[in-house]
Amino acid sequence: MRDTVETITELPEGPTPEVHAGRLLPWYDRHRRTLPWRALPGEKADPYRVWLSEIMLQQTTVVTVGAYFDAFLHRWPTVRDLAAAPLDKILHAWQGLGYYARARNLHACAQAVVERHGGQFPDDIEALSALPGVGAYTAGAIAAIAFDRQASAVDGNVERVIARLYALETPLPDVKPAIRDYAGRLVPAERPGDYAQAMMDLGATVCTPRAPRCVLCPVVDLCVGRRLGVAETLPRRRVKPARPVRQGIAFLLMRKDGAVLLRRRPPRGLLGGMIEVPSSPWREGTLDRDDCLSAAPVPASWRSLPGIVRHVFTHFELRLEVVAASTAGMADEVADAQWCAIDRLDEMALPTVMKKVLTHGLKAMADANPAAT
Ligand code: SF4
Repeated sequence: MRDTVETITELPEGPTPEVHAGRLLPWYDRHRRTLPWRALPGEKADPYRVWLSEIMLQQTTVVTVGAYFDAFLHRWPTVRDLAAAPLDKILHAWQGLGYYARARNLHACAQAVVERHGGQFPDDIEALSALPGVGAYTAGAIAAIAFDRQASAVDGNVERVIARLYALETPLPDVKPAIRDYAGRLVPAERPGDYAQAMMDLGATVCTPRAPRCVLCPVVDLCVGRRLGVAETLPRRRVKPARPVRQGIAFLLMRKDGAVLLRRRPPRGLLGGMIEVPSSPWREGTLDRDDCLSAAPVPASWRSLPGIVRHVFTHFELRLEVVAASTAGMADEVADAQWCAIDRLDEMALPTVMKKVLTHGLKAMADANPAAT
């Protein structure tokens, strides 16, 4: 079965599938990377490991993912174990990998595999794509790597290799459908799983974004981009508009015994379901302090702390002013709120931006009142 979305009648100038795979697979046999989630030569790949690693690797580097992958596998050795785990434990273990929607989808996907497929990952693109958090790339990667299906898996590395092999000059993202077409046509019938991993390895280790090491490349004589002298400039990208800035105020409320008020964000939306320091809505444009302060979790004498917390999300930059106040009360009226002792903050599923708010706010308070610390 093939996973090609669009159909082309002929490949443009560039390698044929047979010649391409004929060069790439022997190279892979000699130079394949050893990765914690990768089956050794001759071993059968474990779909759970393949899926877990692919979700973790979205937007994150191989080096960062290694320790997380080992920790997850140690704690939840099977998809059933992961499905049965409380979401909070998963979010906590995910801290540092960012993009928490992926962690929530990870949990939902594990549960779907157990409920819909009896704890076994399906082996076809359609059923894989229907799982939470499994997009076209991940479905292709699991089908190819875990089940040796003739499917293509086009991530950023493979996009770059294909754009260079065929000297595709149209900028991203417009060139993506063509890249998917060409990539799909190159997948061989023999060893498609190894082929998918070979393309990933080629992009990661040889056909690198800057200064590709073409002299070491097994397909150098087939590469049109290299022949035309444009390889390093590909793939081209459309110029991105500047990232918008959103602003808001975070409320650091301290109880007399030193506990901090935290609350859970709504389940949907950015950082959905995560624990946060209560904050005003984050808005573009000039900061309206009065409007922001009206969103305080409790009435109190809020005082501004010096400095600003900055955090960059994919689609915007966030700048948060931090204000602080003390209370003897319980703030019971704050929805989804909880008090947390400062020395137990590490145990909370706090996103990075909220860790920054706490580090910044607690330091500013200590600087302002050293006798109290
Ligand atoms: Fe990439 Fe160079 Fe190989 Fe072409 S020859 S695929 S540009 S490494």
